[in-house]
Amino acid sequence: MSKNPFDKKIGILGAGQLGKMLFQASTKLNLDISFLDSSIEVPVGRISDRVQIGDFKNYDDVIAFGKDKDVISIEIEAVNVDALAQLEKEGKQVFPQASVVRLIQDKGTQKAFFKSNDLPSPTYQLVESKEELQANIDSGGITFPFVQKLRRDGYDGKGVCVIKNQEGMQEAFDASCVIEDLVDIAKELSVIVARSQSGEIAVYDPVEMVVDPKANLLDYQMAPAAISKNKRNEAQQLAITTAEKLEIVGLLAVELFLDSDNELWINELAPRPHNSGHHTIEACQTSQYEQQLRCILGLPLGNTDLFTPSLLMNILGDPSFTGPAVYQGLELCLDKKGVHPHLYGKTITKPMRKMGHINIVNANLEEAKDIYHYIKSVLKVISHE
Ligand code: ADP
Repeated sequence: MSKNPFDKKIGILGAGQLGKMLFQASTKLNLDISFLDSSIEVPVGRISDRVQIGDFKNYDDVIAFGKDKDVISIEIEAVNVDALAQLEKEGKQVFPQASVVRLIQDKGTQKAFFKSNDLPSPTYQLVESKEELQANIDSGGITFPFVQKLRRDGYDGKGVCVIKNQEGMQEAFDASCVIEDLVDIAKELSVIVARSQSGEIAVYDPVEMVVDPKANLLDYQMAPAAISKNKRNEAQQLAITTAEKLEIVGLLAVELFLDSDNELWINELAPRPHNSGHHTIEACQTSQYEQQLRCILGLPLGNTDLFTPSLLMNILGDPSFTGPAVYQGLELCLDKKGVHPHLYGKTITKPMRKMGHINIVNANLEEAKDIYHYIKSVLKVISHE
């Protein structure tokens, strides 16, 4: 007899902030969940004893962790996929599936997937080195401006470089990369979609992401996105088609560009809870975290309705401090209407490190923006060491 879904042992690779919010959602249903990470000094470790020590990039560690679990999932893509594939072979449920994680880990195979499935994504080429990139520029095969992206292990904009002219080539990566057309972006959007084991789909409202151009990192996000009803439907349909073509089980975040000609392009995918979906905790009927747990346990998917507009901001470490974190001005923020802080519990702050986020729920997004500007001016993550 198959196990009652509520009794299944869940194992999550990674115990960072996304893991912490998965843990928080799991307590509502009293689920049996544990995490694999290299230390207990991680966000999940601060609130629970369910962190097992090991390296989620190491084959043997992942196999050992998965042995006594029924369902294995991830909160970060950079995990050992060979081990996930082996656990699948041994009859474990692995969601998202190892093949999906493998495809998404590499921006080159992601782009090939978009192309072969006629999903709109900026035109691209692959290069193996800076030398090959320069040779392509010299022969006219690649023209300025373009965007260079590391195929692997880039995150939070760290593996992305916009190159406008020959001078900009000084900044170019010397690695295996995707070279992509530079899109004239009007808005950056994200759609989170959930697909269950039976193929049931639940899609959230598109949100608008405002990226800090200096840090290449999310500055704030607004839900719902200020786009027409047609574009909203088109963006949701693109996300649904992508999830169906991938046959993913679990959450898929689909990052999109809306260009100055009002066309939608897929930028990239994340097969897990996503920074652009933190607002779902306070603003939606079902949070993305609970939805992920429902997907991987084979439970009915939850309603995704957004019942209040909201603005989400990252709390980043101040650029001038490294050391034990101090949240200066937090009480002032708590004094404002609709402010929901989520501190991740990272002991050490570093320049621009994601230390938490704040969700500002407000029927009026202009008012939420004023509160956002106020918080930006008073809240600083500093250190006294
Ligand atoms: P990461 O995986 O590090 O999040 P992304 O691929 O999302 O990297 O790129 C980070 C940011 O760089 C995007 O949010 C966008 O602002 C910009 N960017 C990425 N690709 C393009 C592109 N083709 N054209 C214009 N801007 C881009």
